[in-house]
Amino acid sequence: MRRRDFIKTGMLGALIAASPVSISALDSPTRPTAKAGRLNLSFRPYELKLRHAFNLARNQRTTTPGVQVQIEYDGITGYGEASMPPYLGESVASVSEFIGKLDLSQFSDPFRIEEIHEYMESVAPDNRAAKASVDIALHDLSGKIMGQPWHKIWGLNPDKTPNTSFTISYDADPVEMKKKIEETSPYKVVKVKMGLDHDKEIVEALRRHTDVPICVDANQGWNNREKALEMCHWLAERNCLFVEQPMDKAAIDDTAWLRERSPLPIIADEFLQRLPDVRRAAQAYDGINIKLMKSTGMHEAYQMAVLARALGMKVMLGCMTETSCAVSAAAQLAPMVDWADLDGNLLIANDIFDGMKIVDGKVTLNDRPGIGVIPV
Ligand code: MG
Repeated sequence: MRRRDFIKTGMLGALIAASPVSISALDSPTRPTAKAGRLNLSFRPYELKLRHAFNLARNQRTTTPGVQVQIEYDGITGYGEASMPPYLGESVASVSEFIGKLDLSQFSDPFRIEEIHEYMESVAPDNRAAKASVDIALHDLSGKIMGQPWHKIWGLNPDKTPNTSFTISYDADPVEMKKKIEETSPYKVVKVKMGLDHDKEIVEALRRHTDVPICVDANQGWNNREKALEMCHWLAERNCLFVEQPMDKAAIDDTAWLRERSPLPIIADEFLQRLPDVRRAAQAYDGINIKLMKSTGMHEAYQMAVLARALGMKVMLGCMTETSCAVSAAAQLAPMVDWADLDGNLLIANDIFDGMKIVDGKVTLNDRPGIGVIPV
């Protein structure tokens, strides 16, 4: 990627916030120069192009807005990324505004990740994807300084990563549907998006070609608990591993009712974002889906995984449509989780990083320091 496209934060923050469209015009010799021994944060918008239109229970889309972030410290660069699917409520403008307000040059120690999170919380309470982008870049930077990948720093065994699921959605055209199913052949688990009008058709179409285990994400699409329970029984007979977010995130009592009766584990996704939500999720769900863009990055995601385990819950690791940057950052946690849904980089056509790989269906970490990525 071109360095000159990145925008320095701090002094230019107010200007960026006021005028997010003129971002490229800000790249000029007058920008502040990097301060030695200080953290220098810069960013640029980067739109992710999806290989297939995404048909979810509540919307369809062909692109996802993103922002790429760099933090430089004494000649070392850490990479980070924010991905903003519409339901999270963040945008290029809101992420640019938030990051533009940050002045990380007040920090001289890239290992003060906890303190930098406290600082970011003091700037604004939400902006989770924006915070995640800074958090990922800090982890990449500090891991590179230590010369170790984060899975090692956390003491995890990289051989213990799970298979990833690969996501497909329904297509009314049988030829297109068959093409989508054929694309799943390298993967050991297929994730099926449900909550639309064709929930059973998609599984039946899949089962005509393969008996690979599936997991189901209803994206809050089943609007009553009896229907959700009927689907759980139907899916349990068709080699399904678990059901993610069957009903509206506000339907806590109905979800608890479903959990009591379902033959399949019920996993929370839209219901939870951050660490304090994990304990709440335990009232109605068997497990949680952790995503860096919800958790504000790797720092809190790790804490969420530890807490969920302590509460006896299942842990799933997910992602948004992201480049290999954010996916590789999430993958550092993969040895801690039961299931991974780390296909975000595989779903986009314009990846700009080389990082973690899916080898024979399995999340496969490399030994590169930090989050294990290099720009391509
Ligand atoms: Mg989900």
